[in-house]
Amino acid sequence: MICKIGVIAGDGIGPEIVAEAQKVLDAVGEKYGHVFEYTDILMGGCSIDAVGVPLTDEAVAAAKASDAVLMGSIGGNTQTSPWYKLPPNLRPEAGLLKIRKELNLFANLRPAYLYEELKAACPLRDDIIGDGFDMMIMRELTGGLYFGDRYTKEVNGCLTACDTLVYTEEEIRRIAVRGFDIAMKRRKKVTSVDKANVLDSSRLWRKVVEEVAKDYPEVTYEHMLVDNCAMQLVKNPAQFDVILTENMFGDILSDEASMVTGSIGMLSSASLNDTKFGLYEPSGGSAPDIAGLGIANPIATILSAAMMLRYTFDLDKEADAVEDAVKQVLKEGYRTGDIMPQNGESTEKIVKVGTAEMGSLIAERV
Ligand code: NAD
Repeated sequence: MICKIGVIAGDGIGPEIVAEAQKVLDAVGEKYGHVFEYTDILMGGCSIDAVGVPLTDEAVAAAKASDAVLMGSIGGNTQTSPWYKLPPNLRPEAGLLKIRKELNLFANLRPAYLYEELKAACPLRDDIIGDGFDMMIMRELTGGLYFGDRYTKEVNGCLTACDTLVYTEEEIRRIAVRGFDIAMKRRKKVTSVDKANVLDSSRLWRKVVEEVAKDYPEVTYEHMLVDNCAMQLVKNPAQFDVILTENMFGDILSDEASMVTGSIGMLSSASLNDTKFGLYEPSGGSAPDIAGLGIANPIATILSAAMMLRYTFDLDKEADAVEDAVKQVLKEGYRTGDIMPQNGESTEKIVKVGTAEMGSLIAERV
């Protein structure tokens, strides 16, 4: 297969971690007979420095011409970088918002997976962790409260603020379809999260999810109220496979779920539209504090590339090979600085490695 990948290396640690993901993809290509063709795309601070704006129309066109985009991260130190003296629409993050909009990326996926070897980084008790957990938070990204009309004004002498939460049937249906599709590639369970005991938008959400569920008889589904879901995530995380939810609930729940897995350097993510196209990136930022030191953890970006293989290219076997290689490297005791044993855990058989070495170790095990 020939796979056309747009590559946004970005700022800070972005270029370092993306290079390692490409190294792993190339190893996949060699082993399984695929060709990964890369097109570099400028976005973020590096684009501001080069051409004065965080994302040009040419860059958007290059992304649209790709099958998928692999991204590192964009942005700099928000206190000290000159990029943050620019008006908001010219700052690095404006590029990210623009590309999400231009590519219509309405579905955000964030896996929360607990690696056996990194259990100590999980803040939950051993009896709650049990045999670990493996869930996917699927968050609607372009509708709901963050995009509704809003105002702050004085009403009868009292300052009043209003935000509106709007969802259309179509917006709910397209994310629900993606959620059930993803569940079909996993353990075939969907937990749809809403606040249907209070909100009209949630009652519509529930109705549409039930309609979509009829097309997926193999998938078990349930509804859960968001307040209960927040509790269940720390009480019994193993019960979840795919959590399907709207924008604001997903914003909060995905952070909660990712924090119970430990390091930010391990967290992959994907944003999808209604085609096979996706933008794949680590959940963390550009980590300006460690940029250029060769110590950043590339695993989140490598796992994002594995998601790309699975969800854009339907190369499940290849995606499994990358995920297994990551597990293998951790099992053999290799760690970047951010995932070194803590809290008095034994460091026997643990080998500290840098960004490039971690990438090479994973590529060799693909
Ligand atoms: P950050 O995620 O960059 O860093 C938070 C902490 O996590 C830092 O101590 C950093 O060293 C560490 N860290 C992050 N990724 C790591 C990795 N792969 N390996 C080891 N350690 C890692 O968050 P921040 O400091 O709040 O933001 C820095 C910049 O990144 C800002 O400009 C912010 O806007 C931007 N940002 C970009 C994205 C994106 O590109 N999607 C997302 C979040 C933040």
